[in-house]
Amino acid sequence: GPSRQDSVNNANSPLKLFTHAKTTITEIFKSISVYVGDANKFLDDVNKSDRNLLTNEKYKEIQQLKEKVNRILSIISRDHMKVVFFGRTSNGKSTTMNAMLRERILPVGMGHTTNCFLQIEGTDKAEPYVLTPGSDEPKSVSSLGNVGSALSREKLDSDSLVKILWPKEKCRLIRDDVVLVDSPGIDVSANLDQWIEQHCLDADVFVLVISAEATITVAEKKFLHNVAQRLSNPNIFILMNRWDATANEPEMVDSVRQQHLDRGLEFLCDELHICDRQEASEHRMFFISAREALLKRNKDPTSSPRTGFSDGHEERFAEFNNFEHEFEKCISKTAVQTKFEQHTNRGKEIISILRDTTSNIANRSQTLKQEAVQKLTDMDEKNNKLERELRSMTETAKDKIRHVSEDVYKRVAQTLND
Ligand code: GDP
Repeated sequence: GPSRQDSVNNANSPLKLFTHAKTTITEIFKSISVYVGDANKFLDDVNKSDRNLLTNEKYKEIQQLKEKVNRILSIISRDHMKVVFFGRTSNGKSTTMNAMLRERILPVGMGHTTNCFLQIEGTDKAEPYVLTPGSDEPKSVSSLGNVGSALSREKLDSDSLVKILWPKEKCRLIRDDVVLVDSPGIDVSANLDQWIEQHCLDADVFVLVISAEATITVAEKKFLHNVAQRLSNPNIFILMNRWDATANEPEMVDSVRQQHLDRGLEFLCDELHICDRQEASEHRMFFISAREALLKRNKDPTSSPRTGFSDGHEERFAEFNNFEHEFEKCISKTAVQTKFEQHTNRGKEIISILRDTTSNIANRSQTLKQEAVQKLTDMDEKNNKLERELRSMTETAKDKIRHVSEDVYKRVAQTLND
């Protein structure tokens, strides 16, 4: 619908599902932190009262919750959505990513110089910078194209990771906590298992970029098979890129598209069993032109505004927007599920430990109170009994005294008489 393009641009983007969830869960854990603080103060007092209301272990466990909650808060602050792009060199991965970022951040057409993993993530700083493996020193990329030259000077292994820190304020996707990873061109010699182990296990979405002039290669298939083995139910998108090439052969478009679709669905649904065909054809495969999409969003000021677009570009651009919308829905939903479900469970655990401990103390002090009351009652009864005994003793004593005195009186009287 008409809102689709907007939803990718504005505050209604599906990515907000994640950012809202993150804000909410942060607030909840801040409340838990206050609760833990209060509980600690209370337990300090209880401990001082020295009535055996709390074991030392419990006391320590509750004290440690404070640190635990702070740790979770810092994990949450670093939680993000991660997407990995892969495919053969020159299929258009970098161009696709730049189009999504709406800026020419990644060097394009330099497959040989960027033969390693490149991760683009957000920074609160105003200027972008690059972090290379084995060095904490940020390298500046003051001008565009510098990323490429900053990298070509480095000797990097194909499984090493270079981080590009991009100012959040400059880019919506990055501001909304999406981390994008570009992989070295996939070929048969690549150590796919190691790549997956090091860079893909925490990915929420995988995007395979294929050139429409080619088909899915053995290496690309193998990569996805391995991914599916390691991650249960991975989210995979297939982009048939360079679809603008079909503008030259309009009579072929439909049949070529159907061929690609059939092969793609066969792979996703029959081989990998990721989803059913309906779902895959509507939500997982898209025929796009990354070059046109980037051009549309990031115009080259030196050339005429019409340059670079082929017939049918509106349709391809609409499909690119569709892809982004589906991608944003998918990645935010998955990230919320995988990341925040864990946090929610931890939060529940912490609260139930606190509740159990305080209610144990309440019960225990209740019991102590009852015991004390019982003691008082017992003492009371004992008092009464003593009192009764005393009373009866005095009665007897009075009687005895009376008897004795009467006796004495009688005897005295007797003696006097005698
Ligand atoms: P990567 O190696 O997969 O990252 O590919 P690049 O993004 O560097 O693209 C390789 C070359 O293909 C560049 O010259 C791009 O301009 C070009 N290219 C990328 N996408 C398209 C597209 O959709 N159509 C056309 N015609 N060329 C494209």
